Amino acid sequence: MKPSTHKAALAAATSNDPRWARVLARDPHADGRFFYSVKSTGVYCRPSCAARPMRPENVAFHASGAEAERAGFRPCKRCRPERLAPSPQRAATAHGEAPEEIRYAVGRCSLGALLVAHSARGLCAILLDDEPEPLLRDLQRRFPHARLAADASRHAPWLARVAGFVEHTGHSLDLPLDMRGTGFQQQVWQTLLAIPAGATASYAEVARRIGAPRAVRAVAQACAANPLAVAVPCHRVVRSDGGLSGYRWGMARKRLLLRREAQA
Ligand SMILES: [Zn+2]
Repeated sequence: MKPSTHKAALAAATSNDPRWARVLARDPHADGRFFYSVKSTGVYCRPSCAARPMRPENVAFHASGAEAERAGFRPCKRCRPERLAPSPQRAATAHGEAPEEIRYAVGRCSLGALLVAHSARGLCAILLDDEPEPLLRDLQRRFPHARLAADASRHAPWLARVAGFVEHTGHSLDLPLDMRGTGFQQQVWQTLLAIPAGATASYAEVARRIGAPRAVRAVAQACAANPLAVAVPCHRVVRSDGGLSGYRWGMARKRLLLRREAQA
């Protein structure tokens, strides 16, 4: 991906996020529900901060101040985001807003048990395991503030589409993806989406493509944090010597996916 294309993709990811409108409006009701960081200044703010306008490609959203600080940002001296109550859920209830609803369904595919979840914006999780039981716990851990609703009817077509896609990863999944992560993770995942079935790239190559050639370890961590198994093809990232390296969803699944894609 060219740097200009890449910047545009990052800017679009921010602009399409409903939280961006809250930041532009400096909405005090959004305070405590999320935080945003600015790459060019290294600070993070509450949504209502009166800081000067920032470019959307430099902005990432965080569920908590602690998350922003783990990503390397320091609290803004002006709006003091570290003094806010940390729980977005509590803030949401205080303002009378319902928590976000995420619908999910669990089924089986050739890779084992499969959980598919979607928000109002698109697929937000595709999780794999040997058995169905751990899948819901994984979903709860990833969306601690959402209201999770099992969807037997409306969601079932999504489950079937994803299960079918797992068998034929060279085809287009053609469903909107709601990829949630830091700005850096989004960059890595966007780059993975550009690796076609049957091809692979090394962690170092992905780091070069996003213009951060030294961030190889961080790229590997972003791959491991990918919430959309198979759809965001982190299985196509391998070691520079061609070795398979790790896979969040198990090495056997990675080997099987790559073998199928090489034969397709
Ligand atoms: Zn601020």
